[in-house]
Amino acid sequence: MTVRTRIAPSPTGDPHVGTAYVALFNLCFARQHGGQFILRIEDTDQARSTAESEQDILQALRWLGLEWDEGPDVGGPYGPYRQSERRNDYRQYALELVEKGHAFYCFRTPEELDVIREERKARGLNPGIKGDLELPAAEVERRLAAGEPHVIRMKVPEEGVCRINDMLRGEIEIDWGQVDCQILLKSDGMPTYHLANVVDDHLMAITHVLRGEEWINSAPKHQLLYEYFGWDMPVLCHMPLLRNPDKSKLSKRKNPTSINFYERMGFLPEAVINYLGRMGWSMPDEREKFSVSEMVEQFDIQRVSLGGPIFDIEKLRWLNGLWLREDLTETQFVARLKDWWFNEQALSALVPHVQSRAELFSDVAPMTAFMFSGMLSLTVEQFEHSKLDGDQVRRILQFTLWRLEAQRHWTKERIFADVKGLAKAMGLKMGEFMFPVFVAIAGTPNSWSVMDSMALLGPDMTRARLRHALTLLGGFSKKESKRVEKEYVALQSD
Ligand code: GLU
Repeated sequence: MTVRTRIAPSPTGDPHVGTAYVALFNLCFARQHGGQFILRIEDTDQARSTAESEQDILQALRWLGLEWDEGPDVGGPYGPYRQSERRNDYRQYALELVEKGHAFYCFRTPEELDVIREERKARGLNPGIKGDLELPAAEVERRLAAGEPHVIRMKVPEEGVCRINDMLRGEIEIDWGQVDCQILLKSDGMPTYHLANVVDDHLMAITHVLRGEEWINSAPKHQLLYEYFGWDMPVLCHMPLLRNPDKSKLSKRKNPTSINFYERMGFLPEAVINYLGRMGWSMPDEREKFSVSEMVEQFDIQRVSLGGPIFDIEKLRWLNGLWLREDLTETQFVARLKDWWFNEQALSALVPHVQSRAELFSDVAPMTAFMFSGMLSLTVEQFEHSKLDGDQVRRILQFTLWRLEAQRHWTKERIFADVKGLAKAMGLKMGEFMFPVFVAIAGTPNSWSVMDSMALLGPDMTRARLRHALTLLGGFSKKESKRVEKEYVALQSD
């Protein structure tokens, strides 16, 4: 048997460090066994998937030095590797299960399902959606013929215990009572993640599924699907979730989670991937600094420990320092620095803003320093403004941050529209509204257009600086947060 592992990202947002983490362990496991590592794009959620996000994910994983043997960009014998290009195949599998009596058509509207849930609750049953919704065959025929909207759901046992084997956790028991009759095929004919994932892992001959812990609760449905189809199931391994230093699940509200941020900050990819290799895993000799190929040589999945690994930027920074000092010659240092942000293209992008303002070349470095910096050292006093009180300043920063977190098309025009809309909704003049944003982004209100700066700095650095400024100004207490969130929602609907 050839070991085949995969990473199956959904292209619905920024390239996440968690994706890189799971990819690294899949790659090491496959390489250690002389097997193959596959990249598959799970874009069945057409409303949220974008081509840009897919591009970003592939690029970010490449930047980290992760290489896959098969994937949408490199091809391979089991393609296509993008689920949207396989969409016509899933339906037949859902129908096969209906025919075998393992799945059924469901015509219920969301409102009807709510009523059913309530009724089940009142009867002391688990409020899940169960197979008792199945209609008599003649009725199904009639409704299908009438073209009524429907989904296909899998049947799951009403009760009993499902046992899942996990490489790291051994046997896990999950109550069937908690498991819904999962939708397999949506009313638009697209498969859900569960159906597409199982079908593709089977068709792509995946032998080991290493994925995040958050998928454990899906495992019973997947196991049952394999049984229904009569297919061998890959071995499962659920990796621990990365955590913020306060132990909460790694989230962009507290920690930058986009790989692009780490690139923009000037981390070396070698150091980032090394740090991810140390998340819940260690070398037999406990050495801190190692490359992916050294990790592959010593890899043993059983060395993964399950206590949630903490992703701490300060530690990563320290490790990056080691790589910078110990692994780059001076010539390499210069080359890498140029590649990073001191290249022709990056400098050219600054010229339009600098040329009109500078009198000497020696003006250029101080004027542009914030474009080459990470987090700025700011003081609370810098945010003082005669027309704005502290509450307004914090609201401006918070609302801008939320608005820009939702912005998927990072262009100067879109950013401008976002900011202008907020200023108007808050009843502030643009100049006043922009003041704290200027300080957060450029460290001074006297710079060139902050829209240009944000466009050039990119979404991750921009958001991180807004967050950094908010933290400096004390942010909002839990209680305040709720109120501020409500105000924000109200602003949006104005
Ligand atoms: N598309 C899923 C995700 O985005 C894949 C989960 C899995 O590996 O099964 O995480």
